Amino acid sequence: METMPANSSSTAAPTQLPVPRDGIAGAAPYGAPQLPVTHALNVNENPFGPSRQLADHIGRAVSETALGLNRYPDREALALREELGRYLAFESGITVPRPESVWAANGSNEIMHQLLLAFGGPGRTALGFSPHYSMYPEYARDTYTDWVTAERGPAPQFALTAETVTAAIERHRPQIVVLTSPNNPTGTALDLEVAEAAAAALAPTRGLLVVDEAYAEFRRDGVPSALTLLEEHPNLVVTRTMSKAFALAGARVGYLVAHPAVVDAVRVVRLPYHLSAVTQAVASTALGHRAELLGQVALLRTERDALAAHLTERGHTTAPSDANFVMFETFTDRDSVFDALLQRDVLVRAVGPDGWLRVSVGTPDDNAAFRSALEEADPR
Ligand SMILES: *Cc1c(COP(=O)(O)O)cnc(C)c1O
Repeated sequence: METMPANSSSTAAPTQLPVPRDGIAGAAPYGAPQLPVTHALNVNENPFGPSRQLADHIGRAVSETALGLNRYPDREALALREELGRYLAFESGITVPRPESVWAANGSNEIMHQLLLAFGGPGRTALGFSPHYSMYPEYARDTYTDWVTAERGPAPQFALTAETVTAAIERHRPQIVVLTSPNNPTGTALDLEVAEAAAAALAPTRGLLVVDEAYAEFRRDGVPSALTLLEEHPNLVVTRTMSKAFALAGARVGYLVAHPAVVDAVRVVRLPYHLSAVTQAVASTALGHRAELLGQVALLRTERDALAAHLTERGHTTAPSDANFVMFETFTDRDSVFDALLQRDVLVRAVGPDGWLRVSVGTPDDNAAFRSALEEADPR
């Protein structure tokens, strides 16, 4: 969101204003621009909204819940956690043995923040691999955790190997390692051997491995989920979200699966009643309609492959994507391509290595608009 300057509503002299702590003072709030464009392909949302029927069901569930809004919500969100476990069994064929292995919060952003609150902190280090999701360093900053990075392999694969990850763990001795699969902004998925090697390398120091699977449902056939490793690795957490494949970004629901001991630590740092009764009702209703909400994922995967193929045909270097976006290298300066696309009502994201842009997969109409805008914005 475009934000107002911090002091815009104040008439106090700047010298009277309280000073935030180091790292916060002078920092800008994070967020991609929310611009009114026809083709918003910048934050990897699902372009398909819920049907009228589902919206009505959600409305009824919220209306029922509203009758009890004088009471605090179930602070354990147990019914929702059970339903999330059942959903994972359906999606990945994994048996989640009990709801105590699942935890839910306001988006996987809050999940990650809670993990860093519980397992990071002063004197502790979290390790990630660049290019990575831009929020990770901010969770670390806010929880007084040191954030360190190692590099992914060269473009366009941006691969991680067991050797790279193990070497970085030995060098930095982190308490937390974050691996993202499929990765944002590259779109590339992780070989499970890499996650296994990381979990094993962290085990002697009792470190935590977080695999962020925000885009898991978009992965190509045959690409496994780290959920399959949970049974063998009690120091592994897999995080998921309803924001992307589930087309529910506006409801703010993310979750994790881990050993109940990890969940217990997160329960200590969560704010009381962090997940509103309304959010729980919306999420539960949406999970009951997963066939509809996930119905467009197959189409988006097909569109993603077509978009990647189109970019490759144009001569762009393109990172192989298992997500609902594609990162590609531009022929000319990326900022001028970004601006030229925006002039044509197409909003993408300038993230990743210099010279690369990331485009989310939209509806077939969005994707066609992107392709023709790119023809003019970045002539080859
Ligand atoms: C979008 C995204 C998330 C999801 O965030 P929510 O808070 O669940 O909306 C998490 N991790 C990565 C890498 C993402 O790109």
